Amino acid sequence: MKRNIKNLNDSELREILSSQKQPAFRSEQIKKAIYKNRKKEFSEISNLPKSLTSYLTENFEINSLKIRTVRKSRDGSVKFLFESLDGNSLEAVYMPWFDDSSENVERETLCISSMSGCSVGCAFCATGKIGFKKNLEIAEMIDQIFLVEDYLHTKLTNIVLMGMGEPLMNYSNVIGALEILTDPNYEIFNRKRITISTSGIAPRIKQLAKFIRPVKLAISLHATSNGVRDKIMPINQSFKLETLMDAVEEYYKITKIPITYEYIIFDNLNDTENDIVRLTKIARRVPSRVNIIPFNDISFTNPTGFASELKPAKREKMEYFAAKLREKGVASIIRDTFGGDIEAACGQLALSEEKIIQTIEI
Ligand code: SAH
Ligand code: SF4
Repeated sequence: MKRNIKNLNDSELREILSSQKQPAFRSEQIKKAIYKNRKKEFSEISNLPKSLTSYLTENFEINSLKIRTVRKSRDGSVKFLFESLDGNSLEAVYMPWFDDSSENVERETLCISSMSGCSVGCAFCATGKIGFKKNLEIAEMIDQIFLVEDYLHTKLTNIVLMGMGEPLMNYSNVIGALEILTDPNYEIFNRKRITISTSGIAPRIKQLAKFIRPVKLAISLHATSNGVRDKIMPINQSFKLETLMDAVEEYYKITKIPITYEYIIFDNLNDTENDIVRLTKIARRVPSRVNIIPFNDISFTNPTGFASELKPAKREKMEYFAAKLREKGVASIIRDTFGGDIEAACGQLALSEEKIIQTIEI
């Protein structure tokens, strides 16, 4: 199989070019053509010598994904199911945010995947149920964006790494993608419009804080005590809340970017007055906001054991939580499920799609 050129780092690309007796400036020429001018074939890059064009065509790919399914939702969100060249499924969700008049699109966010499946296995998550298929390559992360922009004929404004997978467990590829996406030469995104969401890989959070162009960080918190967090997020057994909070504090100190906490409220589990007190304390450690998230039903995954007992909290409880937090000076909103009617929650399309494929094959 040919290598994808987007997966090469600078020194690899330069080495390849020098092996072809090409000057070093070709490297930037090629990258600009691919990332800024979005060339899809080497033959479309007009300023390269013919011999180099044929060498690159013979040995490298530019594209890494195929769009397999597109599902549009009434609320304007669009879910994309991709297939990688090695046959794995991954997904991205496009979410337009309208201004107050509901006429103009103010923000266009794409939620992208960092893995096919996920290795972390949180009890409440449909992607976790799929298990780990693979870490996405740099090309596969960037191409989710490029293919969606092409398909929708639009320019996205924001990116969140909140699709399938745990980005900080695919660290070097995520950093490789971020280096390209935030590079001012390619005018893809401003770093402040990129958010990485993590289940809490503490050492990697500290490492990410030192990234040259720091991005926003969202923490999937979902519990305020180790006892409850251990049960719903197995990663907490490796990195306890205290360790996670130390890493978050360091992230803020170095980057000066406020943190977002994601908090799914489960009925009768993490919804007590004590949780409000502890959540307030956590949120006050560094400037931050708390997104209260309704639990998306995952009963279609046939959860067993503890996962089968998880129930969404009532709307009033979520409103009460958000109001209490605001009363204590913590910015908090309820983040409504986007595209509920197209199964926009983490991992859901991939699962139902797998079912559809099985039906077709039969
Ligand atoms: N692995 C990363 C990013 C992908 S998950 C992380 O865990 O942060 C993206 C978000 O979806 C996380 O905040 C996750 O907790 C949330 N999520 C997963 N399953 C969900 C469900 N069933 N209902 C609501 N939110 C869910
Ligand atoms: Fe993986 Fe995030 Fe789902 Fe947990 S919530 S299983 S880390 S994708």
